[in-house]
Amino acid sequence: MMHAYATSSDCRRGRCGTPRTAPSRAASHPLALVHQTVGNRAVARAVLQRTPAAPAAPTFAPNCNEFHRCNVIEGLTMARTVVDGTIAALTPIAAGTVTTGSVVTRLTTEFHDPDAKGRAALVLAVYRLLRTELDAAIRFNCDSEAGDCTSAHGGVVGAYTNCAAGAEIGLCSAFHVVGCAEQVRFLIHEYAHHLPGFCADLAYSDQPAFATLTAAQAMVNADSFAFFAVNVSSPAGCVDCGTVIQIGGPRRRRY
Ligand SMILES: [Zn+2]
Repeated sequence: MMHAYATSSDCRRGRCGTPRTAPSRAASHPLALVHQTVGNRAVARAVLQRTPAAPAAPTFAPNCNEFHRCNVIEGLTMARTVVDGTIAALTPIAAGTVTTGSVVTRLTTEFHDPDAKGRAALVLAVYRLLRTELDAAIRFNCDSEAGDCTSAHGGVVGAYTNCAAGAEIGLCSAFHVVGCAEQVRFLIHEYAHHLPGFCADLAYSDQPAFATLTAAQAMVNADSFAFFAVNVSSPAGCVDCGTVIQIGGPRRRRY
């Protein structure tokens, strides 16, 4: 089976992918290669400095067809809903009014900090920044033949982007064959790479290294935020573009 995955060297060049399927152990990233210099306080400051903008429609390169556009437009709509739901779940934890429950358990486990209230406040600040980025005017490229769609180790990448706010996101053919819920996770993952300090993929959620990240590492790991969000706020009910595009008559949607 081919594994979707971006190599560490890809990430150091600033282009990081999302795994399509569970990467093998052999594909694990060497964590020692990564050094993060942007701490939690830098992220929190960036939140305060950003002014909420009206949602912008994504734009598309000519190589994106209607199916591709549907996957992005519907995926982004659900990604915003998922992140809104995650923020709503974290807010009472950060306030100290919720101290137990499945979200608290998941938060302290996946962000590797027993202090749920304190960690929730930090994680919440990142999700608010991510939510703003989800409304940015992002251009999508659907050149699935691009070199970025194949890792140096022979894996297949689902999507890739540069680690800068507003950067274009590339969609590989693998992105379009996963279910819509997985596409939502991919999109949250790629948008997270646009936040300060999120250049490297320290561990994907299905890698053993994910369980041994430090709290500081999890705070700048794109898949930590994508995985937590879709588990706290399910993308259930996401639109299957393969279905809506094939429907004829008045129920047919156009993208
Ligand atoms: Zn990534």
